[in-house]
Amino acid sequence: MPPSTTRPAAEDPRPLTGEPLSLDLLNTRWIDADGPHDLLGTLEGLAVWLRSAGLADQSAADRPTLDALLHTRDALLALVDDQPTTEAASALNDVLAHGSVHHRLGPDGPETHPRAEPPHWLPAWLAAADYLTLLDTAPQRVKGCANPRCVLHYYDTTKNGGRRWCSMAVCGNRAKAASHYARARPRPAPRSAPRAGSAGEEPGAPGTGS
Ligand SMILES: [Zn+2]
Repeated sequence: MPPSTTRPAAEDPRPLTGEPLSLDLLNTRWIDADGPHDLLGTLEGLAVWLRSAGLADQSAADRPTLDALLHTRDALLALVDDQPTTEAASALNDVLAHGSVHHRLGPDGPETHPRAEPPHWLPAWLAAADYLTLLDTAPQRVKGCANPRCVLHYYDTTKNGGRRWCSMAVCGNRAKAASHYARARPRPAPRSAPRAGSAGEEPGAPGTGS
């Protein structure tokens, strides 16, 4: 196979992707066995995030865009887990003041075009505006993972709104295992005397003709 002329795009390393944009921005931070990670710790990571968010062709992976996103992520973090304070709300409103939606009638019908001023605020503004949409739709479905050591957030789209974990496979199973061990009681040793015979043999196994 001939070598590719373009370098393959770095893959998104995050454990949880595909959440609405505001929560997806929060989920650029995560903690795993290696410790805390931050996809927005570098411009390369920002480029990965912009691609994942479908914003790579609208925004440059540059320092101003990154700073706007970090600022907005802090504002969202201050709102999402606690009772929102006036300061937290005004921090988000400062972000929202950087953009607006422009409506126009296009050849195929009505069009909406988000705009930001300066333009590097666009991804941050979109994330902030997305959070308002979630609050408008179902604020109780904006959740943090129930694992206290996990910092991921998600929008609960289950029918009964009973999702508790970022991932059943990771945090859910860990919690299930923890509660299983907590419930488990030491079992009394079996009453029947251990059979004489070769160790490790299944009791009641057909004799192997010693
Ligand atoms: Zn989790």
